[in-house]
Parts: sequence; structure tokens; C-alpha cells
Amino acid sequence: MSENTPPPERPSGPIKIPEGLWVKCKACKEIIYSKEVARGGKICPKCGYHFPLTARERLDMLCDAGKWTAFGNEIKSADPLKFSYSKKDVEKSQEKGKDVFKSVNYKDAVKKLNEVLGGFDAILCAEGTIEGIPAILCSMDFRFIGGSMGSAVGEKITRAAERALAEGKPLVVISCSGGARMQEGILSLMQMAKISAAVARLREAGLPFISILADPTTGGVTASYAMQGDVNIAEPKALIGFAGQRVIEQTIRQKLPEGFQSAEFVLEKGMVDLVLPRNQLKAAVGNLLRLLHVG
Ligand SMILES: [Zn+2]
Repeated sequence: MSENTPPPERPSGPIKIPEGLWVKCKACKEIIYSKEVARGGKICPKCGYHFPLTARERLDMLCDAGKWTAFGNEIKSADPLKFSYSKKDVEKSQEKGKDVFKSVNYKDAVKKLNEVLGGFDAILCAEGTIEGIPAILCSMDFRFIGGSMGSAVGEKITRAAERALAEGKPLVVISCSGGARMQEGILSLMQMAKISAAVARLREAGLPFISILADPTTGGVTASYAMQGDVNIAEPKALIGFAGQRVIEQTIRQKLPEGFQSAEFVLEKGMVDLVLPRNQLKAAVGNLLRLLHVG
């Protein structure tokens, strides 16, 4: 089927969606021809909902001709706490149809996810060019334990920042994360300081760091590098925050305003600099790098 083939007729009657041909928009519930979604950067043509992207899809989208070279995938998560999931967690995840926790041990879950998703833990680091400008990119993948930041993720971003510094290139990080990875305890939290220090060295050297926040960007990731970009750009309606809404409401015993922690809300409050649809990101990042990057 060529790119220009008209979409097949919409299914009528009780909707049974053939695998891969039609997708249902999570926001407006419309059934959309999947090629139509793919063509527009996985944005719903009816309502503008941004479908989740994998780490690879994001790099393909940002890098010229979809070309990039990965590095740092030899860094793997350790299991310092010898962490095991509780029986309840395993049952809950099986109910949701996620079979990852069938492995009761964190170590086994990581191994399995690395096999299935491509062996880059929750972040893919790469070299590429954005509108002709050589850059170092890091792209998080929510499918890997909620895009959580463990010691492997922290080490990979730190090395990416160090590579950017050594090669005099800008750094672009796309975050999509539930926060620090509790399965590695304090070692995950320590990554926040480590990455922040690496990012600070980039700033001292006058090298730009662009942070892109996809849905969701929360917890320790928001509390560190995701908010430390020279320019922080969020995707429309992305959830951006530190603690969850319910936790905050219970703590302060107040009802939170409408749209709290949405990209648009945090833009209004000055937490991010821009909210941009995904299909404008590449051109915007290119423009920013030309403006900020000296040499
Ligand atoms: Zn929609």
C-alpha cells in the first residue's frame, strides 16, 4: 500500500479494530486510520492528542533524515538492593496485562525489558544532527519501568553531557518519566545531583542544553535535569509535576485548580518556556540551537 492509497472504509457496526490498521484516540475516542496518525508525528488529526512515542521514534523525528548513532548502551542497571516485587504488585501488573513483573525480581525484570525493548534501559543516548547542527541527544522510554531514572539512566545522561562538553556540542534531552527508580533506592536519587553537576559544566562552557518534556515528566526527573534546560519545551497537555495531584491534595488539604500540572498550566506559571506541538519541535530546536550555539 503506497503512502497515497486512500484509507479503507471505516468499520461500521460493533467496532472490532483490526490489529494495526486503525487506532483509537485516547482523548477524543475517534477511530483513526493509523497511517494518518503516523504521518503527522503520531498526533490525532481530530483533536491534536499526542500519542506516546518510543525513545527511537523521538530520535528519528528530531535527527536529520532520521539518522543517529547510539552510544552508552553497555551501561546496565545493577540491583544493589536485591529488590523483589511484592506478590500484590505482581498480581496487579498481571491484571493490567503487563507481564514484566512475572519476574518477581527487579534484576530479571530489567533483563527481560532490555531483551524486549532493545537493551538501552530507559534512555537512548545518541549522536546526530538537528537541522545540520551536530548534537548529543538523550531520549527516554516510558515502557521501561515508567521511564524511571535508575543508576544506568543517570550515568548515561551524565556521560552524554560529558561527551557534549568534550566535543563542544549542544545537549538535547527528551524526558518522559515517572521519576526516580525506587527499586534502586538512594542510588537513583543520587543521579539527580550527578546529572545536575554535569549540566552545570555545560552551562559554564557556554554550550546549550535544550530540555523537552513529554507526557508525563514527573518526580525526580522534573526535580532535576528536565527543568534545567536553557530552554524547557513541553508537548501540549503533557503532565508535568513533582508529586502526584492526589498526594498534594491530601497534604495541603485543598482542592487543586483545573488543569493543574498540565503543560499549559506550568507554562502560565513560568515553569516551562514553550509549549509546542511535536511536529514543530525539530524546527524550533534547530532555531534555538542556531540562536544559542556559538561556534
Ligand atoms: Zn483525538
